Amino acid sequence: MSSNELLTGAVAVRDDAAELARLRADLSAQAPNLLIDGHWRPAASGATLDVDDPATGAVIARIAAGDAQDVEHAVAAARRAFRDGPWPRLPASKRAALLFALADAIEREQGRFALLESLDAGHSLASIRAGDLPLGLRSLRDYAGWATKIAGEVPMRSSEQAGMDYFLREPIGVVAIVTPWNAPFLMVLQKLGAALAAGCTVVIKPAELAPLSALRIGELCARVGLPDGVVNVVTGTGLAAGQALAEHPDVNLISFTGSTQVGRSIMAAAARSNLKRVVLELGGKSPVLVLGDADLDRAARAIVAEIVFKSGQYCAAGSRVYVQASLHEALLERLRAGMDGVRIDAGYAAGCEMGPMISQAQRERAQEIVDHSLAEGARALTGGRARPGAGYFYPPTLLTGVESHMRAVREEIFAPVLTVMPFADDASAAQIAALANDSHYGLSAKLWSRDLRNVHELIGRIESGQVIVNGGGGEATLPFGGVKQSGYGRENGHVGLSAFTEIKAVRLGY
Ligand code: NAP
Ligand code: MG
Repeated sequence: MSSNELLTGAVAVRDDAAELARLRADLSAQAPNLLIDGHWRPAASGATLDVDDPATGAVIARIAAGDAQDVEHAVAAARRAFRDGPWPRLPASKRAALLFALADAIEREQGRFALLESLDAGHSLASIRAGDLPLGLRSLRDYAGWATKIAGEVPMRSSEQAGMDYFLREPIGVVAIVTPWNAPFLMVLQKLGAALAAGCTVVIKPAELAPLSALRIGELCARVGLPDGVVNVVTGTGLAAGQALAEHPDVNLISFTGSTQVGRSIMAAAARSNLKRVVLELGGKSPVLVLGDADLDRAARAIVAEIVFKSGQYCAAGSRVYVQASLHEALLERLRAGMDGVRIDAGYAAGCEMGPMISQAQRERAQEIVDHSLAEGARALTGGRARPGAGYFYPPTLLTGVESHMRAVREEIFAPVLTVMPFADDASAAQIAALANDSHYGLSAKLWSRDLRNVHELIGRIESGQVIVNGGGGEATLPFGGVKQSGYGRENGHVGLSAFTEIKAVRLGY
């Protein structure tokens, strides 16, 4: 191996190809099973679903199509493990040690996890290696650290009553984890870490389009010694397995990431059934505000990088760009050049910068929204047409001449599509914030400016769960979640952890 090979990554690429071939062989031999109470077994109905490679459309694995019967068994197992098993009663330091061991086990296999996620969800290996994997591991380890720091309080007394008052923070119980296909590994780990640190037991229902990393995480949970029934994995469709969890009378919390439409139906199901708690991380249509003093080169690079990350299938991606009029043309030129330079290929191909979309249905939906806006007068400076041939590829697309009522500006497209609109050079902070806030969503606003006064004024006015100033991305310790129809509750750190606990107040008289 020459030092030149090491520098160019040629060796890594050769190893990837061999490892990918082994992975494909293992997946095609993998039995379509669910993980329930420590045992792998087929769905009660015997039904299965095919899982495909979005870069080719070829089937790579079969999974069990779990339904309400399987959910019944999995929730019962999780309840037994919670009520009778050791997990919630273990010393917190032992729970922490097991979570650290799980993180180590995942890290030892991180090469394989990256390939698995790339093959299943379509994303570039580089983005998974730099993003999902380290972020997921940091999140899991952060929650492992929190396991020993969950505490109640002994408040000051306000009355003359004799005795003592205190409150406990207890695990909430059985948690359903329902996740989307766009960041399957990361979403499962974030929720699992919080649930397990708090002492809960779980049933994971991954998206049927990218379920493979969740199954492997389940396997490693058993391998590092988590007791049977603490982590159960039920693959299957949202309508069968997901809905059954949302309706289930013995699930205490559903931690959901996905679309606003399904989030709404989960909240309704929770209300109809047992008033289970809900945490909903939903869609977004995040604004990017580029002010007159912005570093335009940096801003353009970051805007392109974010919209091509996961082929635009990233809930927090800035997709509605508003730029001060005097910078409009210069920004468009930079965005177009950046988008045209993106290398599109299968996620696991050497040098890939952007992979395919997850499915033909998602790509058709994106095309429909783009076409609708083009018919209403928008113009595509680049992209705008699905790439012909195998796989679900869609090119980076830059739309100008858009108006605020157009579907491309209003709807979450979940594809690498940017809309760009100018605002007057003398617009006030209130007027600029009104553009950002002109959406049902409120997940992650981006702001490009070095003028602290403007920045602070806009931060105060923007309706969003998160405001990112001058670039940057996911942080495992910063609360994440949306306002308005982007969701309900927050994830990460002790703020995220609190959703997995319930408070019990105690008045102890003598
Ligand atoms: P989705 O269609 O809402 O599905 C999410 C999960 O819910 C999947 O596991 C799905 O199962 C399941 N599901 C579907 N219908 C259900 C029902 N009636 N009851 C219970 N569960 C049901 O979302 P997606 O298309 O997978 O993901 C894309 C969406 O996720 C986008 O809107 C994106 O913005 C959002 N997202 C948000 C965040 C965030 O943190 N805010 C992060 C990532 C993604 P099946 O797919 O197997 O049918
Ligand atoms: Mg897949």
